[in-house]
Amino acid sequence: MSRRKPDIYEQQRQRYWERWHRSPLLKEKYPKVTSISVEMSFKDSDGKCDFESKKEIYSQESKAFFKIECPYRECVSGGFNFSFDIDKLVTSHLDKLDGTITCQGWQDKERIGKHRCFLELNYTISAKYKNGD
Ligand SMILES: [Zn+2]
Repeated sequence: MSRRKPDIYEQQRQRYWERWHRSPLLKEKYPKVTSISVEMSFKDSDGKCDFESKKEIYSQESKAFFKIECPYRECVSGGFNFSFDIDKLVTSHLDKLDGTITCQGWQDKERIGKHRCFLELNYTISAKYKNGD
């Protein structure tokens, strides 16, 4: 019986969820934080994309895993990682932080090594802290 090799998209989805599983909970990683929210809006370099803006909310019971997948389903090794910014926000005890991340994935599996995705994401991260901290 021959087993089908999982394709590149299945593999990256699997890796994503493995990392998610290994992540601690928000309350373990940042005990002083009650919630973190990330507001996102997308922009393509040629202005064609119309992905809807979205908002992710992380509560104390959420996994402290702040990476989202690229909304382009064909994108390989892409995605957006907020871990570094959230760490900066929380360690500096700020309420809000905004910025832009560009997806560094490949446009699709035929264009690996040739054409990057470059989808642009504008974000605002806000954190709420426990009273008195
Ligand atoms: Zn992408």
